[in-house]
Amino acid sequence: MSFYGLPQFPNIRMRRLRRLNLIEETSFKKEDLIYPIFVDENIEGRREIKSMPGQYRFSIKDAGVEALEVRELGIRSVILFGIPSRKDEIGSEAYNKEGVIQRAIREIKREVGDITVIGDVCLCEYTSHGHCGLIKNKRVLNDETLEILGKISKTYAESGADVVAPSGMMDGMVGHIRETLDVSGYEDVAIMSYSAKYNSNFYGPFRDAAESGYKFGDRSTYQMNYKNSDEAMREIRLDIAEGADIVMVKPALPYLDIIYRAKKEFNFPLAAYNVSGEYSMVKYSSSVLDEDKIIEEILLSIKRAGADLIISYHAKDFAKRK
Ligand SMILES: [Zn+2]
Repeated sequence: MSFYGLPQFPNIRMRRLRRLNLIEETSFKKEDLIYPIFVDENIEGRREIKSMPGQYRFSIKDAGVEALEVRELGIRSVILFGIPSRKDEIGSEAYNKEGVIQRAIREIKREVGDITVIGDVCLCEYTSHGHCGLIKNKRVLNDETLEILGKISKTYAESGADVVAPSGMMDGMVGHIRETLDVSGYEDVAIMSYSAKYNSNFYGPFRDAAESGYKFGDRSTYQMNYKNSDEAMREIRLDIAEGADIVMVKPALPYLDIIYRAKKEFNFPLAAYNVSGEYSMVKYSSSVLDEDKIIEEILLSIKRAGADLIISYHAKDFAKRK
């Protein structure tokens, strides 16, 4: 029997191969994961983040212990977010050589041999107003902010970071950081850019974790409107042109179409950020869903959509079971 000349049932039986489970088009391994670590200068030991059950803030010393545990589980990279002891209008703690992230990078590099350390580069955790850039008349300044992002990146590189990850969605940030790193002799430090970062409601728990909530306005003048897809492709294209080594789509699960499209259009190293809200939804659903299986399915779906790397709070749980 045939339909438009194509072989059909009963000659074709899809269930034959499915029964054997012989073909798996997408594979996913723990080496594809990046684990986020929150480092808090104000605490001793570790403290659980209320809105993200199972996630903690760590002192600088404990961040080293945590990174070692993560590495021993088979995860290759961590991304660091800092909570400083002091905030000001211009976020000057972010580029302090003795700042929380700079010290945490050195601690982790000392504790763990072969780990890739990524430093998140932004101002929102360091400014008193909580925005991702310098402010004038309640407006986030773009070009002036670039100078600071360059400074932060340079101090991360000096501390031993392998990758810097600008997340503030300022225009020209990748180009400016690349230039700053290169003239400072850090041409081997890579840039992973939060290229298509949406102004998403899924970030709620993160703001609690990183104390990065803002005092006025919102982030819609720099983060993307979630109704847009073409714009994400323009953002990614610009970041590639400016010298990004890895581009990113954030969040992941409600943006699988963007991940898919980005991989198709650019075939460029691509990361996706499985964000705090996505994590907490799974955690708070554990009474009605099989958490382990859900995590595996979610991470696989992000990979299948086209992400090479996935930043996920589930990374440790996933790696423990593999
Ligand atoms: Zn920010």
